[in-house]
Amino acid sequence: MHCPFCGADDTKVIDSRLVAEGDQVRRRRECLSCSERFTTYEVAELMMPKIIKHNGNREPFNEEKMRSGILRALEKRPVSVEEIEAAITGIKHALQATGEREVKSRVVGELVMDALRDLDEVAYVRFASVYRSFQDLAEFQAEITRLQEAAPATETAE
Ligand SMILES: [Zn+2]
Repeated sequence: MHCPFCGADDTKVIDSRLVAEGDQVRRRRECLSCSERFTTYEVAELMMPKIIKHNGNREPFNEEKMRSGILRALEKRPVSVEEIEAAITGIKHALQATGEREVKSRVVGELVMDALRDLDEVAYVRFASVYRSFQDLAEFQAEITRLQEAAPATETAE
């Protein structure tokens, strides 16, 4: 990296060690031009990305908002709290793993739908019917048809 003192292009790492119980790498660097020394720290970026709304506004990821949407879809369904929390943790990890600083709200919606599809198909349809009504009605209709064809007539009435 560039020297913060003289702006030279090349600096040399003269020492590198793990700190903060291995969560960070501390590097001592020396400028090849002016011989000044400085320190850098490297950490894994596991921030939750900001959410880009349909209108272009950015807002912080709101875990409670996502959880309440999931719980509403799962109301009175036979899914345990542990399963729900594991799904929420999985969605958060997936968002962090994008490495992006901002993601479209659609990405979150798709992750929630994928998680609900695995947990409970009724909850999935409930969530998708609300969500997709703003997205792609034809796609939603196709999904309903797919589910109807996949599931035999043993589904209990709501
Ligand atoms: Zn320098």
